[in-house]
Amino acid sequence: AFDMLIIGAGPAGASSAIYSARKGIRTGLITDRFGGQVADTVGIENFISVKATEGPKLVASLEEHVRDYDVDIMNNQRVTSLREGNMLEITLENGAVLKSKSIVLATGARWREMNVPGEREYRGAGVAYCPHCDGPLYKGKKVAVIGGGNSGIEAAIDLANIVEQVTVLEFDSKLRADDVLQRKARSMPNIEIITDAQTTEVNGDGKKVTGLTYTDRTSGESRQVELAGIFVQIGLVPNTEWLKDSGVAMTLRGEIITKPNGETNIKGVFAAGDATEVPFKQIIIAMGSGATAALGAFDYLMRSSAP
Ligand code: FAD
Repeated sequence: AFDMLIIGAGPAGASSAIYSARKGIRTGLITDRFGGQVADTVGIENFISVKATEGPKLVASLEEHVRDYDVDIMNNQRVTSLREGNMLEITLENGAVLKSKSIVLATGARWREMNVPGEREYRGAGVAYCPHCDGPLYKGKKVAVIGGGNSGIEAAIDLANIVEQVTVLEFDSKLRADDVLQRKARSMPNIEIITDAQTTEVNGDGKKVTGLTYTDRTSGESRQVELAGIFVQIGLVPNTEWLKDSGVAMTLRGEIITKPNGETNIKGVFAAGDATEVPFKQIIIAMGSGATAALGAFDYLMRSSAP
């Protein structure tokens, strides 16, 4: 059995694994791929102390750093359930059951996609999901934000300070964002808001995005907008569906609820990174919370094994 079993090897899980192994306890790391969302990222310019890097490069360094320690890495494995027995037990897709005294849940999240032609093709070449990350790449250019919820309108306000013009496209007839955000967005001269707009295609020249096509849902007409970038802000979905029968407390959106030390409502179960209700989803934040969860779990182990 393990002392600490970490599920997910994105930045949060990798960080937990290193902090755990450095305590000299038996550490396991299970993931269906190494690196998580970072593996899908092109440029990274906000990982403090590294001026600029690329996703796959950062993933390789993460993996190298973890492998420098005595961590039992189980890659290409999906976890399907968690339950409490005399120890904590997790089941893998292949049926194997692993036991541990403590667990760190670090299964991350995925951006909801529009699922329209061109979106996948131009991902990282004009199609973006993170304004904090990619906003500065569009300095002085025209961009669209898809989605008029809080994250979409926050993205529009944020981008409007950097880019020339932001067009917000919302499928519904009204925005869902909080009033204060809507007022702020409407007061900015370079934000245009179009409602009843269903994005149907990402247009490009074979190398990068040149615009998008949407259907005006009131008239049924198809329209085109010329743009250099498209920020898709229609939701970030936590990878926590597999926890639904585990008893782990989550928000309505499926984000794991944690205490300041990373602990969940279940004894010995901790969580970190984008799978939790942490308000900001970033690499540096995920790594910090991964360290917190591992230290929280180690503290729990010390106290629970006292004679
Ligand atoms: P993730 O990175 O999502 O990793 C979770 C891991 O868990 C994955 O490896 C996954 O395979 C695994 N997993 C999930 N479910 C299971 C299961 N059931 N069983 C086993 N394993 C499982 N942030 C920045 O700071 N700067 C940037 O420039 C930046 N750019 C981004 C660009 C893109 C395109 C995207 C998508 C995100 C970007 N982000 C950026 C956000 C950043 O990548 C995330 O905040 C960060 O990766 C979250 O780390 P995490 O470890 O919590 O989760």
